[in-house]
Amino acid sequence: MNIVDIQSQIVSLPFDMGGPPATFAGKAWTHLDILLVRVETDEGLVGWGEAFGHAGIGATRAALDGIVAPLVLGRSSGDIAALTRSVLHATHLLGRNGPFVFAYSGIETALWDLAGKRAGQPVARLLGGVRERLPAYASLLAYHDPALVRRNVEAACAAGYRHIKLHEVTEEAVAAGAEVARAHGAALMVDVNCAWSVPAALRMADAFAPHDLTWFEEPVWPPEDAHGLAQVRARGIPIAAGENTAGLFGFKALIEAGAIDVAQPSVTKIGGIGEMLRVITLCEAHGVRAAPHSPYFGPGLVATMHVIAARVEDPLVEVLWLDMEANPFDPWIRAENGHVRLPPGPGLGCDPDPDVLDRYRVGGIVRTA
Ligand SMILES: [Mg+2]
Repeated sequence: MNIVDIQSQIVSLPFDMGGPPATFAGKAWTHLDILLVRVETDEGLVGWGEAFGHAGIGATRAALDGIVAPLVLGRSSGDIAALTRSVLHATHLLGRNGPFVFAYSGIETALWDLAGKRAGQPVARLLGGVRERLPAYASLLAYHDPALVRRNVEAACAAGYRHIKLHEVTEEAVAAGAEVARAHGAALMVDVNCAWSVPAALRMADAFAPHDLTWFEEPVWPPEDAHGLAQVRARGIPIAAGENTAGLFGFKALIEAGAIDVAQPSVTKIGGIGEMLRVITLCEAHGVRAAPHSPYFGPGLVATMHVIAARVEDPLVEVLWLDMEANPFDPWIRAENGHVRLPPGPGLGCDPDPDVLDRYRVGGIVRTA
């Protein structure tokens, strides 16, 4: 079961978010780019993973093709925890939270896909779970316009979602979303992506208090200010964070500081499924809810679904509220009536459609063999 071939490729999928596209690093964000990792073993089995990309996808790919793939080539694909220890130790001086860990996350996820395929079982079953359908929340991108927030919350509720998350930073926009969500009996969360200093976050927590948020996500800059988060949490609003937290020990620091009610490990960033499981166990020991970060549309989302199905008592899967032209992992990455379904096949259960990969691939395939 040794690893004999690792391939990376990027697919770029056009989408419509129900409003003018957001900008990131000066560019309009109109395509979802997914960095796919394909790992093949000497048994002829193939596993798929996803490494965190967004605007930094080129950096992750350079880390993957240049350093991480050569480190795992020839190693046993079945000894996942030992391989994780070895690769993350070998790259720790290059960053404990960034392109190298993101790159390894894609490979690690592919190793679980391989483990499931070898056993003839879905990953969720390997982890001890049998749930096949999970509630999802609609994660709306930022509109910065109360009318567009209202319209998209209305549409998400009509599509069957009972949990909605906004990425809005003004009281006016949050109030607009809250009014519509309340009318439909939907829960509302607000994510501000580390927008504020602690004093500003305290003011906004007070401003948002009347809207009865299920959670207030990443209110404080920088994300590692655990004590600042704890100060905001003391205002009584449940705090969620973790998509920018490095591994098990990053979460340990957040929990020990009393900073979070909801932990959000991200499978494509944190080191893959194994590290997610370690974080979930830590959360269980401290009464912290796990609600993984998963604004993904490939193996990152599907792997998160398997972990949640098996290991999260109060499941809620993050699905970005946008409409993609096509996706190589259709239909499994799309929610229906506010729920996602797990593919029933072994491993992650959904290999990509090669025709869709060919149609939307940008650049070539890089092979390490
Ligand atoms: Mg977030």
